[in-house]
Amino acid sequence: MKIGVLAIQGDFAEHIVMLRHLGVETAEVRLPAHLDGLDGLIIPGGESTTIGKLSVDFGLLEPLRAFGKTHAMWGTCAGAIFLSKDARRNQPLLGIMDITVERNAFGRQVDSFEADLAIPELGEGNPYHAIFIRAPIIESVQADASVMVSLPDGRIVAARQGKLLATSFHPELTRDARFHEYFLTLAR
Ligand code: GLN
Repeated sequence: MKIGVLAIQGDFAEHIVMLRHLGVETAEVRLPAHLDGLDGLIIPGGESTTIGKLSVDFGLLEPLRAFGKTHAMWGTCAGAIFLSKDARRNQPLLGIMDITVERNAFGRQVDSFEADLAIPELGEGNPYHAIFIRAPIIESVQADASVMVSLPDGRIVAARQGKLLATSFHPELTRDARFHEYFLTLAR
């Protein structure tokens, strides 16, 4: 099992630490050729406009779209925005997940927050501590995408579409490896 992490901007190093902790081989992806031989790819949190623009500059947009058609791909926060079909702004997106997102939906940096969420896919009875940093919400899911996690008020913060996964929050910033383990089951 070898998982790549898009390493052009954002907190890719934290994802790599988590994957290594799980005994998975990792690769930093900066160029299309770095996708060769990977079983899955994580797009980290950061700044989705920057990730998008640099992906255009490095010729990554089409190779990433093609990779996502046949492989597991997971975007956290900015990465989730980058996977979406619609971010309600003009910025480069992969557009491979049938979700509409609203960027910075909870407000500014100071409005970052943490919440304990029940996520059945990660096991019953043990809430998942989710960290939100200038996070987007997933306004709606369409077509083949489905809601995976919502806040108590109903706002959607994780969605899945086959092997594609989008989370508003940052599992790589916790010590809880369950979300990464879940992604590995999609990549397998
Ligand atoms: N606010 C960022 C964006 O819109 C995402 C923040 C994050 O990834 N923590 O791209």
